[in-house]
Parts: sequence; structure tokens; C-alpha cells
Amino acid sequence: MDLRAKQSGDVLDEATGQPLPPLLLDLAERARQAQALAYAPYSRFPVGAALLTSDGRVFVGANVENASYGLTVCAERTAVFAAVLAGAHRLSAIAICTNLNPPAAPCGMCRQTLAEFSEDADVVLLSPHGTARLTKLSTLLPLAFRPNALIAAAEKDPDGNGK
Ligand SMILES: [Zn+2]
Repeated sequence: MDLRAKQSGDVLDEATGQPLPPLLLDLAERARQAQALAYAPYSRFPVGAALLTSDGRVFVGANVENASYGLTVCAERTAVFAAVLAGAHRLSAIAICTNLNPPAAPCGMCRQTLAEFSEDADVVLLSPHGTARLTKLSTLLPLAFRPNALIAAAEKDPDGNGK
């Protein structure tokens, strides 16, 4: 018997074939559930996200589209907004679920939004077939522009006039 045979409900790390650790598995399940709440009548590309804050809370999001396409907000950002509105400013992990295999990664705008609240979150990218790609925010967005860049600029030039 293959000891690595997939159990019902398992999500396997595509790199190792091993099940995700319980914390990330829970996050993956929450992202998959959130995907069902997506409002994506135009793209028909539903996305769910679940993020874990540094204080152990989980917030979910789904993409919300609009007939005025530019107003669409991605799942990752709706989850971040929910966390911020609940007072959470430190994110430690996010799971993102699409219907693509290999799984899709967050867009650039979402990577930058995540970098505002995390130095190097774990990122779980889910495919619809029970596998996941594990990565880090620093891999998806190296050399991120962060709040400390603005703080450093303000300290060097408090009047903001370049002198
Ligand atoms: Zn995005």
C-alpha cells in the first residue's frame, strides 16, 4: 500500500507529495469554501482566498466583479480588507483557490497589497485536483516596496521638499 496515497480531504504539496500541515490544510479548505462565494459573472474565473493573521485569526475573501470591469477587486484583497477592518495588520499565510491546474498565482496588485502587511507570508496556491504549490511572498514579490521606505524618506527629508 502506498503510504502517501491521498486521503479524502487531503491536499498534497505538489513538490513533495506529502499532505499539507494541518494549519495550511485548514486555510486551503477555507479558501475553497470562499471560492464558492465569488461574484464573477464576467470572467467566470471564481477565486477564493483565506488568510491567517499573526494573532491566529482567519479571514476569507472572494473576487467581486463589476459591469464596469476596472472596479473588480480580487479575492486576496477582499480578504486583506476584511482583516484590516477587524484590526489585523500582520499576515502570516494566505491560501488562494482557483480552477486552474497548475494553480494560478496572485496578480501584481495583490502581491503589493500583501507586502504592506507581511514581510514573508507563506502562500498556498490550490489547484482543483487536490494539489497545492507552496511558496513565499518574497518569491512572488522580491524587493517589495514597503512602508519602511516611506518612513525612511520622511526621516531624511521631513518637509518633503527635497532639501
Ligand atoms: Zn489580484
